[in-house]
Amino acid sequence: MSARIIDGKAEAIRLRARIAEEAAQLKRSHGVVPGLAVVLVGDDPASEVYVRNKATQTREAGMASFEYRLPASLSERALLDLIEELNVRSDVNGILVQLPLPPHISAENVVNAIAPEKDVDGLHPTNAGLLAVGRPALVPCTPLGCVILAKTVHENLRGMDVVVVGRSSLVGRPAAQLFISESCTVTVAHSATRDLPAVCRRADILLVAVGRPLLVKADWIKPGATVIDVGINRVAKDSGGTRLVGDVAFEEAVQVAGAITPVPGGVGPMTIACLLANTITSTKLRLGLQLAA
Ligand code: NDP
Repeated sequence: MSARIIDGKAEAIRLRARIAEEAAQLKRSHGVVPGLAVVLVGDDPASEVYVRNKATQTREAGMASFEYRLPASLSERALLDLIEELNVRSDVNGILVQLPLPPHISAENVVNAIAPEKDVDGLHPTNAGLLAVGRPALVPCTPLGCVILAKTVHENLRGMDVVVVGRSSLVGRPAAQLFISESCTVTVAHSATRDLPAVCRRADILLVAVGRPLLVKADWIKPGATVIDVGINRVAKDSGGTRLVGDVAFEEAVQVAGAITPVPGGVGPMTIACLLANTITSTKLRLGLQLAA
């Protein structure tokens, strides 16, 4: 039996349509256009593509996009000054500083400088702490997208065994916290985990965010499990050139899993959609509005 393929592209389109409706509603009822500021320092080509896509999708959702493309030579002080300015601007509801930053700028100092209520990347320690204690917070976009995708397969995640492989503050840790909030039983595995295949085989939902191409094999997966592959790895093709693969050996995993995200076209497209969702959330929080469940 071949697994159901979880279509992240289609789900992201649906989510962006809902966000556009919410943005229109905020404009009608409060005269507010949610605004997202994206800051890019340096000229990393991959980051440039992400920033362009974010800006386009922000505008398509009827929101305001403010882009800052700054030279790699920018000082940390100058970047912190810009963030302070964005923190107090009433037309900016979300601030995202594209990572990685040039080596002379501390990503930690920069993330810590963003006002927590505008931290749409969900990386500020205040938001990480709120998430850890189960309080409403702005949550990192990629894990948020993963949970939404898992819910397209299982309406209710309560009681499910979830294994998260990877413990980064960007993906693994917040994903684990989100699944705990969904009343799942969560195991977090990492590079020191003993017998990783056996740990993975316990999972009803297996989320892999490691950055090792095709690490997870078919016999690591419980038959019928839902597999969420966050990894994005560029590998050489036999025929020359390169291709993108995930952390899961998709061709074999699809024969065992019940549902699985492809790479590309799975988790990736959800990330920007969740960034826009977070910008709506921060706008509503500023207006003192109730958040949707
Ligand atoms: P990090 O490098 O920050 O974290 C990787 C994690 O994997 C670490 O916790 C590490 O363990 C663990 N790990 C490494 N090797 C192994 C192994 N052999 N067995 C078990 N665990 C291992 O990566 P990120 O979390 O930032 O990203 C992970 C992947 O997700 C990457 O491919 C990245 O490109 C992709 N990604 C995709 C996004 C999307 O939008 N689709 C967004 C963000 C990331 P330890 O802590 O012990 O070192």
